[in-house]
Amino acid sequence: MELRKHFDSLENAIVSLFGNNVRIVRMERIFGGDINEAYGLTLTDGTCLFMKSNAGAEESFFTAEAEGLQAIASTGAIQTPHILCSGTDRGRIGGAFLLLEFIKKGERISDYWEIFAQQLAAMHQAEAAGLVEEGTYGFVRDNYIGMRKQNNKANNSWISFFRECRLKPQLRDAAGYFDRTDLKKADKVLERLEDILVEPQHPSLLHGDLWSGNVITGSDGKAWLIDPAVYVGHAEADIAMTELFGGFPPVFYDAYKEAAGIEAGYAKRRDLYNLYHLLNHLNMFGRSYLPSVKRILDYYSLK
Ligand code: ADP
Repeated sequence: MELRKHFDSLENAIVSLFGNNVRIVRMERIFGGDINEAYGLTLTDGTCLFMKSNAGAEESFFTAEAEGLQAIASTGAIQTPHILCSGTDRGRIGGAFLLLEFIKKGERISDYWEIFAQQLAAMHQAEAAGLVEEGTYGFVRDNYIGMRKQNNKANNSWISFFRECRLKPQLRDAAGYFDRTDLKKADKVLERLEDILVEPQHPSLLHGDLWSGNVITGSDGKAWLIDPAVYVGHAEADIAMTELFGGFPPVFYDAYKEAAGIEAGYAKRRDLYNLYHLLNHLNMFGRSYLPSVKRILDYYSLK
């Protein structure tokens, strides 16, 4: 995959991308994310840009995000912001930054949810060639889920990938929250994955962190995807995550089913996919996520 331009300061990036006389005239903080600082930048020529920065992060954190956006864009199925560049600015920012097209927000068109579902289905059905070795699950390189590393080592079984690269690393890092009974339950769930999950009919490119905060309505009135944690996997893992923090309206799921189908038994697998995200939240934000994690471990270890 092509590597994007990267710069040693925000100022150099702006000058190189927009010309010698162009400067930042306004930097407006945007709230809503939970990992990075976000800003709307206005340039002297009137251009608006979106910048994410993080004083504690290496630039590779943002190049991974850019690669994810690029992978989604390569399917041609759904809008994502164009990537301008990444960089490291030790002075002004004290760390790494990512510059993207600014998505101007709009009003949802009347069939927003149906179209979003069809676009997501098209992304899931797109050829995943080049994103991981053919016939395997994972991604060309590791990336991040929130601020934590996400291992994408290719595996020719989806179920084995989900065990080795998704559940096991999170369970290992969360071990301090668990008593002996919890740990036994976790082992049981890992042993039983083949009885609970199914191999997909075809590998799909997943957004990987598809909650409502990562979907923006653009000025075209349609859904734009941001902040991905992409990999090639079973499409239903993305659908499961849409249900984790509130869910989308029923019309979205009906339209998705019509466009791509959802395999029988999905509802019984959903919480196991979401165990990954809840463990990740437990590891990032602390024990308020522990009861949900325990409930899912209870359910699947007794099944
Ligand atoms: P984080 O990496 O901290 O989770 P997000 O990607 O969620 O940050 O973005 C933070 C905020 O910026 C959110 O409110 C989001 O809606 C907004 N945002 C993200 N990308 C863009 C963009 N390209 N254009 C305009 N606003 C954006």
